[in-house]
Amino acid sequence: MIELFSDFDGTLTDKDTLALLLDLYASSDWYAIEKKALDGEIDERQSLADEMALITASDEVLLNTLMREVHPAEGTAELVALARDRDWKMTVLSGGLIRFSRILWESWGYGGIPLFANDHGRDAEGRLTIIPAATPRLKDRCNHCKRWHLEKAKEHGATVVYIGDGLTDFCASEAADRVYAKDNLKEYLIRNGKDFIGFQNLLEVTSHLIKNHS
Ligand SMILES: [Mg+2]
Repeated sequence: MIELFSDFDGTLTDKDTLALLLDLYASSDWYAIEKKALDGEIDERQSLADEMALITASDEVLLNTLMREVHPAEGTAELVALARDRDWKMTVLSGGLIRFSRILWESWGYGGIPLFANDHGRDAEGRLTIIPAATPRLKDRCNHCKRWHLEKAKEHGATVVYIGDGLTDFCASEAADRVYAKDNLKEYLIRNGKDFIGFQNLLEVTSHLIKNHS
């Protein structure tokens, strides 16, 4: 039985919600933090906390911006329909913030597909703080250990398919039986000599899945 796991930001969305909020509401310091994380100098737990602490705009302002600016990536509906038609369990694993990503996901009519992500709070100065996802952490490097969900599915005998594009997908992708990758995830897998199937548009992922599981 196939079990499908997908990243949220930049994979199922047309814009990365965190990058958008940082561009609009944080100083450009966030680019240097992100580069350190992508270069492996700091882990994701540290980089996300440092980046989000640059944001003091209210949740209402942030959510209104996301609801206005972020839409499903092209091909999301087709991918969801394929999973439903084939009775494949699909789970969305986000490295972002649940109070934003879940509201977006549900507003697009996909509330029946579970989405896991980090939570957030505020410090005394109103800076955004990260409350890591409740999921156990296998390596303690990420706020949300996406890999844990994949390992669980494999324990139950599932063939695990993973779709992603970025830093929070690096570790998880290594536990998948098949990876569809773009952008930073694709570069990471090339650098590390790992197998993957590249894509730019989710429609390519859906057609590849149909061809290989007809
Ligand atoms: Mg992403």
